Amino acid sequence: MTSTFLYLLFFSVMDVCLVKMPVLHGDIAVADTTYKNAEPCTATEKGCKWPKEGRYVYVPYYISPDYTQEEQNIIIRGMRSFNQTTCIRFIPWNPSVRNYISFFTQPNSGCWSYLGRQKGVQHISLERGGCVRYSTVQHEILHALGFNHEQVRSDRDRYVRILFNNIKRKQQYNFQKKRTNNLETPYDFSSVMHYNKYAFSKNGLPTIEAKGDPAPAFGNARQMSTNDIIRVNKLYRCSKLKTYSTFYLLCEYV
Ligand SMILES: [Zn+2]
Repeated sequence: MTSTFLYLLFFSVMDVCLVKMPVLHGDIAVADTTYKNAEPCTATEKGCKWPKEGRYVYVPYYISPDYTQEEQNIIIRGMRSFNQTTCIRFIPWNPSVRNYISFFTQPNSGCWSYLGRQKGVQHISLERGGCVRYSTVQHEILHALGFNHEQVRSDRDRYVRILFNNIKRKQQYNFQKKRTNNLETPYDFSSVMHYNKYAFSKNGLPTIEAKGDPAPAFGNARQMSTNDIIRVNKLYRCSKLKTYSTFYLLCEYV
């Protein structure tokens, strides 16, 4: 096996769930027995949209002390990137607050998140070792804010071909198209929510093929794309779209 293959293989399994509880779809945890899509549950705050108070959407957070300080800083940096570019404000949780997200790690807990706001404590699993990475923190937070994977978008067939024959059978539902609210943003190969070419492959062959000539690269985003940021601003009706300077983007790369 070449090192390139090993590299791709690593990223293809990064999103895989390794725990039995809760029930997971890929890296999306499912509350009760009802599968929640970004639509319609994010349509209202009574659904799975986080509530807005004035101009901001406050999301209280708790970070398990099981993480090292360095790991906690990576998670905080991920949250801070939303504070800097959207009207989402992650604030430290205090016990008087009912609904909050809680980052935790356990052996083999993997990387996963619920889709949209749940009630009470809402866990986000970022297992030490493979999941405490800037892009993964952003990815799982975007799930918690109500966003699904890019390649299940309602219009995805115009941009990608899903190669179901190469996908592990039990994971095929992760590739089923959803009736998503695309918020008038283009399909984005550079989204941090896009699976990579070999995600859930059963035979080492691609599971997603980009259409186009030349076919664009995808699935290895190191941070939220501009479209990822715009979507958060649109879904949560942030009063003013922030400007995203090249300076900011470069800073977040290091
Ligand atoms: Zn995911």
